[in-house]
Amino acid sequence: MPIVTTSCLVLQTYRFGDTSKILRLLTRDHGPLSALARGALRPRSRMSGVLEPFVEGVVTLYLKPNRDLHTLSGFELVRSRQALGADMARFAGASVLAELVLRLAPSERDDPLYETLREGLDALLEASVETAPRVAAARIWKLVGVLGFEPSLEHCLSCGRHVPPGEGARFDTMEGGIRCLRCPAGGHSLDPSGLQTLRTLSENRVPPQLSGPQMLILKEFIRVHIAEDIRIRSLDFLTATDG
Ligand SMILES: [Zn+2]
Repeated sequence: MPIVTTSCLVLQTYRFGDTSKILRLLTRDHGPLSALARGALRPRSRMSGVLEPFVEGVVTLYLKPNRDLHTLSGFELVRSRQALGADMARFAGASVLAELVLRLAPSERDDPLYETLREGLDALLEASVETAPRVAAARIWKLVGVLGFEPSLEHCLSCGRHVPPGEGARFDTMEGGIRCLRCPAGGHSLDPSGLQTLRTLSENRVPPQLSGPQMLILKEFIRVHIAEDIRIRSLDFLTATDG
């Protein structure tokens, strides 16, 4: 059984039996892996309370060839990010990032994806209660882009015209982009500031405020293009902070 040691981010954990835990990890070197941490729930285990979602560490694993579940033999904590649990918007944002990676990460090493998740979790950790929903939206759009699903926000889907700043547009969720106001279109109405806000978020920058149905657009975009059946309670929470 080959032994590997790699940096990793914990995406999800669940109990296994009375004393063990199963971890879903995004590892730096080998992409997503699942590992059984035997005895991690024993009170005196060194790993008790350490192996939680959003934690970053250096994990040592016995890889079992052709198996989905490997065995954890060591874990050195790098960053706990426990404070993410102290605020609902921060926690919801981090949960959406982890969920998207769980669903969509390619099976091999992907440095941009790893860095995007790591930086996104850190940005949420540092966000204030007031900025957390905007930081979450910007980081989720960034991750959506890294996963290969970018919305088209510069040119009209129908006539190809560039929609300049100062003009509004409509966002067509099914097509994943905007149409200018000269072209007949349905979808979400965006006034000039709403379009600017959406462009700012999709460039992974934090706008001064959310204007327009930003979270609703993000949620619909993810459902339509990325993960139709995603368990999206965290996104619902963020949507409720829209305004
Ligand atoms: Zn047009």
